[in-house]
Amino acid sequence: MTRIVSTSPQAPSDVVTDVPATTAADVAAAADAARAAQRDWAATPAPQRSAALTAFADAVSRSAQDLAALVVREVGKPVTEAVGEVARTVAILRYYAQQALDPLGETYPPATGGLSFTVRRPRGVAGLITPWNFPLAIPVWKTAPALAFGNSVLVKPSPDATGCALRLAELAAGVLPDGLFTVLPGGAETGTALVDLADVVSFTGSGAVGRQVAVAAATRGIAAQCEMGGLSASVVLDDADIAAVAKQIAYAAMGFAGQKCTATKRIIVAGDDRREAEFTDALRTELDALICGDPADAGVAVGPVISAAAAEKVRDAVAEAEAAGGKAITRATDGGPGHFVVPTIVTGLEPDDPLNTDEVFGPVCTLTAVPDTATALALADATSYGMATSLYTHRLDVVTSYVETTRTGMVKVNAPTTGVDFHLPFGGEKESGYGGREQGKAARDFYTSLRTVQIS
Ligand code: NAD
Repeated sequence: MTRIVSTSPQAPSDVVTDVPATTAADVAAAADAARAAQRDWAATPAPQRSAALTAFADAVSRSAQDLAALVVREVGKPVTEAVGEVARTVAILRYYAQQALDPLGETYPPATGGLSFTVRRPRGVAGLITPWNFPLAIPVWKTAPALAFGNSVLVKPSPDATGCALRLAELAAGVLPDGLFTVLPGGAETGTALVDLADVVSFTGSGAVGRQVAVAAATRGIAAQCEMGGLSASVVLDDADIAAVAKQIAYAAMGFAGQKCTATKRIIVAGDDRREAEFTDALRTELDALICGDPADAGVAVGPVISAAAAEKVRDAVAEAEAAGGKAITRATDGGPGHFVVPTIVTGLEPDDPLNTDEVFGPVCTLTAVPDTATALALADATSYGMATSLYTHRLDVVTSYVETTRTGMVKVNAPTTGVDFHLPFGGEKESGYGGREQGKAARDFYTSLRTVQIS
């Protein structure tokens, strides 16, 4: 029997979770139970569904300390961010508890008398496939709207974050009806089995897997939403305040060891040589100021990466970039027994260097200097990804014209590429996102389907 084992990235001998993988037969049984639970849940009055989600939020809130510690231990997230993730998880549940009470449709002027209106209905069983880097927030930002609008949920978490997902299931068990929220530990096979049985699928993870999920869902004719990788750019234009911007960008690139889909992976600086030198110096200072080490220690910004394989990928990518002529700016780290990688910024690479075209999920980022604004903005969009772009400028005309032309899902102005407000629609374009936005009010459209009703 396949086992799903997660270990602590900072202390790899610490086994956090060791459970059997969910077989295809068990996924089918869970889907049957979820379907039965969903029928009752959809018929439950909205105020009761709202109250149940609030109770779930309360349960998570009561366990906030334990949950944050588990996030630190299982995925190596710095404790300050882990505490923030738990708070956000609670807030998301409370937000969607209220949305359960929102209007479900619209009335229209009828063409020939009578009544014309739309009404949204739940899709059924939502299959949610999640990555490890936001082990509570991502499962919950999918689960909360799914439940609020009357669906049931089957979550297939990343093997590396199984412990966090199972803890959520324990908390849900005390407050939600049986079968409504079930966690299915497993790897690719369990995920595939889930896509084969769910009524709607929401996936977050790498592009390679997301594309397979999208194809499988399309083949079955079910709605799918895939949030995938990113190669987000921070663009520093010639009116930006270099010292303030360098600090923000250093954290956006290296915080949580660069393991966020919105992490800054490319820094683009517009201006002359003097400005490039000034920015590079400021960035080097900020890189040195980041505290690296045990993510359980308060103040640490950069912990380990998730696995030995991930660490090797980062080191290989840097070595290849250096071989191609790039120059690495690094900083010393204390290291330790875990999967620690030295945070690195590589300068002097061509735009088509692999480090500028392919996502490397770790504390590595490129820095490219260009002469002017137009070149900087064109370069920001010159990848197959389209997750987030940060523009550091006070020129509103530049911002508005970029928003018109970019194919990036999220544009931040004088703010880091990282950081997500759960009440706003979230998602990328091109290879970063497929099938509609998550969170905010956008989630309702995804977890419901529309009936158009005409009464003559
Ligand atoms: P991953 O693609 O390896 O795994 C994601 C999930 O898919 C896991 O639960 C995995 O077990 C499952 N899976 C693997 N093969 C499958 C298959 N054939 N069918 C169905 N499910 C399958 O990603 P990861 O390493 O866990 O996460 C890192 C990636 O996630 C990065 O690329 C990152 O950019 C991306 N990410 C994107 C967002 C976003 O919102 N766009 C947010 C966080 C992370």
